[in-house]
Amino acid sequence: MKTMTTDIVVIGGGPGGTPLAMGAAKAGRQVVLVEAGAGLGGTCLFHGCIPSKIFREAAILRYHVERAARLGIGGGLGDPAVDWPTIEKRRETILAKRSGAALANARKIPSLSVLFGKARFLDSHRIVVEGPEGPTEVGFERAVIATGSVSRKLELPGADGHGILSSERLISTDRVPSRMAVIGGGPIGVEMAQIFSLLGTKVTILEALPSILTPVDRTLAQRLQLLLEQDGIPVHTGVKIDRFEPSGTGQKVHYSVDGAARTLEADIVLAVVGRLPNIEGLGLDNTKVRYSSKGIQVDGRLRTAEPHIWASGDVVGQPMFAHWATAQAQALTADLLGRPASFPAVEHNSAVIFSHPELGMAGLTEEGARERGWDVRVAEYNYAIDARAQIADEAEGLLRIVYRSDDATIVGVHALVEGAADLMGEAALAVATGAKLGDFARTIHPHPTLTESFGICASAALGGRK
Ligand code: FAD
Repeated sequence: MKTMTTDIVVIGGGPGGTPLAMGAAKAGRQVVLVEAGAGLGGTCLFHGCIPSKIFREAAILRYHVERAARLGIGGGLGDPAVDWPTIEKRRETILAKRSGAALANARKIPSLSVLFGKARFLDSHRIVVEGPEGPTEVGFERAVIATGSVSRKLELPGADGHGILSSERLISTDRVPSRMAVIGGGPIGVEMAQIFSLLGTKVTILEALPSILTPVDRTLAQRLQLLLEQDGIPVHTGVKIDRFEPSGTGQKVHYSVDGAARTLEADIVLAVVGRLPNIEGLGLDNTKVRYSSKGIQVDGRLRTAEPHIWASGDVVGQPMFAHWATAQAQALTADLLGRPASFPAVEHNSAVIFSHPELGMAGLTEEGARERGWDVRVAEYNYAIDARAQIADEAEGLLRIVYRSDDATIVGVHALVEGAADLMGEAALAVATGAKLGDFARTIHPHPTLTESFGICASAALGGRK
């Protein structure tokens, strides 16, 4: 077996690992980055954020072409055909370009070695990497575990049948199905449901809880549910899935609601019922690192129970987002280099559900703020009256700004409107810097843009004062 030693070993080449490996190596540390997959980029690049948004781009374009006549273009563009092989080719090209660029950048750093293969701890100071050219033993002073997460499997009769897919497998599907059952109304389920619905699939969402998108602002989640249903995506909540039965080329889903048995036939069943930390086969029991089904246990500085081993990204549990994993990796890089480190605070996080319209959130929900014992109020603005939203013919949705009653500090911004994704930059900055409603009100936002909604909403809540 080949052997090598290093200062820092980073296990996992996704957003929670790569920035750290590159940052520490650029600062002169000897770093080995180990990646089990075919390239650098992780779930985000290969099965998550990027491919799903490539599909969404095509789906939204189809939606615009379909309704072009409403805006005075084309008259009869009707029902545009979906050329799936071209969409797939585009996905492959963008993925190859991005992972190729990441590897090329990594290889430019002299003190960084990238090893492809699956890593496993032998003990607290050694891993073995099972690579394509045989095993390599790597001895290390410090290690960072950034192995991400995997889809939670459905443990139900028939759940391993054909056509029952995780989001990872749906990303590389070779066709747009005619009928799809989405099991799980979380962010990934809602996103995928809407993308495929806009591409022409008849989609139904089955959710076990009383409502979809449970951690999200309640008012906006309920509005989005109504919009999904208006768009022809039935949402069944309070569902108990009983079993799956092969039916033709697809599956029959047997489920019940309030004890009443129902069935649903689909060509593809998308099972998106949560994500679990990816720790299987990692040999953690050969170390003192502690973990549970929720993730590797870390403190506020991402230290595990082993003083020289850290963990970052999805593998430490919620929240599971690429930008969050990157923020953790960047803070940890600074910490490992002995520089001042600012670890991300969950109450400053932002996120977007790429539904249509998009649902963007920064900071705390009204409910989350109240749970912290804060006395908060909510300022609302309806996008039905918004100039930009009317121009775009996307005037459905609502903005909700959560602010402290005592000093009008903004603690959360939640927007349901097409374009909300790009509104979240300003929202996240406001929350992270402790901006007040008056700051939104005084900022001169360009007209006509959706960003004006922040100023108008804040100004109205202040009774016209600034
Ligand atoms: P990962 O990206 O999962 O990277 C972990 C890496 O570790 C992988 O490359 C894996 O191969 C490697 N690895 C695992 N085990 C080993 C081992 N033993 N040895 C060596 N290497 C190993 N987030 C967003 O912010 N925005 C979005 O729009 C978004 N959309 C998503 C859509 C979908 C369908 C999914 C599934 C996820 C989405 N996410 C999104 C979440 C995002 O992908 C993750 O939060 C992010 O990738 C986490 O980064 P990570 O580095 O912690 O883990």
